[in-house]
Amino acid sequence: MPLLPIIDVDANSKASLVDAQSALGAEQLAILESNETLLAWLKSQQQPAWRAQAIQRWLFGRRAASFDDMTDLPLSLRTKLQNRYRIWTTSIVTHAVAEDGTEKLLLELHDGQRIECVLLREQERRTVCISSQVGCAMGCVFCASGIDGVVRNLTTGEILEQLLRLAHLLPITERISHIVVMGMGEPLANLDRLLPALATAQHPDGLGISQRRITVSTVGLPKGIDRLSEENPGYHLAVSLHAADDALRTQLVPINKSSGLAEIMASADRYWEVSGRRLTFEYVLLGSVNDSPEQARDLVRLLGGRAALVNIIPYNSVVGLPWREPTQGSRERFLDVLRAAGVNVQVRRRKGAKIDAACGQLRRLAAQAIQPISTTATKTVPKMPPSQTAQ
Ligand code: SAH
Repeated sequence: MPLLPIIDVDANSKASLVDAQSALGAEQLAILESNETLLAWLKSQQQPAWRAQAIQRWLFGRRAASFDDMTDLPLSLRTKLQNRYRIWTTSIVTHAVAEDGTEKLLLELHDGQRIECVLLREQERRTVCISSQVGCAMGCVFCASGIDGVVRNLTTGEILEQLLRLAHLLPITERISHIVVMGMGEPLANLDRLLPALATAQHPDGLGISQRRITVSTVGLPKGIDRLSEENPGYHLAVSLHAADDALRTQLVPINKSSGLAEIMASADRYWEVSGRRLTFEYVLLGSVNDSPEQARDLVRLLGGRAALVNIIPYNSVVGLPWREPTQGSRERFLDVLRAAGVNVQVRRRKGAKIDAACGQLRRLAAQAIQPISTTATKTVPKMPPSQTAQ
């Protein structure tokens, strides 16, 4: 599948980003990583604490690409910041733009790993889809992100940097309005780093995005859902079901073995009780696998009248995987059963299909473009880890 159309990033901004990176010393800290560390450092420099807010506002509100841009900070402080900190720790490997306005970035992290993030435009909405991990350990059989397992958690700074990179794609008159954590990885397996990043995204000195406009999508980890209920129930929670019986779900979503649907639904109910927010259940329709009317009836039974939204996701085909999209007929029959039972159902529209906007795809395809992998070749040719394909 071609990676086109690909446009190059704006030459000037690219140059300034490259400059910022090439000036790095190993001891430099990523400024997005921790506000506490920045506060402590400012204190050590006899700077008032409010400078931290000013820096945040420059980064998120005014989209400064370098410390030089922060023109109302004293020059001496800007110089010190430059020596101590870096804004950018990633580089843009690919910037793909689809006809419908969807843009996708393939980012290379400081260690050569690669992640993806997406900007979606829909009327007034500017939604960004971000990754929480490099790869994924959940093993969903139809998903491109988990094919090679999980490599590592993203840091708070790396999660925030995706937001900044995507914000920089917008004209300054437009702002990110919604965040969905539906990119690569399982967000509830990386809550320690995700929650501080989302707190900054919400903060008025950060992106100022209300919690209600932030969706966390999970494969359904009951402990993680319970932790979110206790610590931060304001987010919109989406739980990926994909099957309404444990036998099939364990085949499609192997992590299901460790909890089972009953436990997942119970934790989702607890979240709903605490948050008062309608839950979303995601269901990827795979042709002849989980798309029969009987399976739709099973789903109705599982939902048991919960006030939830069911998000039906047409399968986005992944190179090398055997799954098929459902036929139009089977999809309609599936939806009819749900609607007739009074289930609130929505079919996710496909955006940016030509640029492989389903997360995990671009990373794999880019790696394959460098070292072609065919299904037979993988058996004989050792696959190059993404970190080496970067060179
Ligand atoms: N780990 C989280 C986020 C994953 S991505 C979760 O499981 O929810 C967000 C959604 O996209 C999930 O429901 C996931 O199952 C789905 N998805 C993954 N691969 C897909 C594909 N090839 N086509 C359609 N949806 C896919």
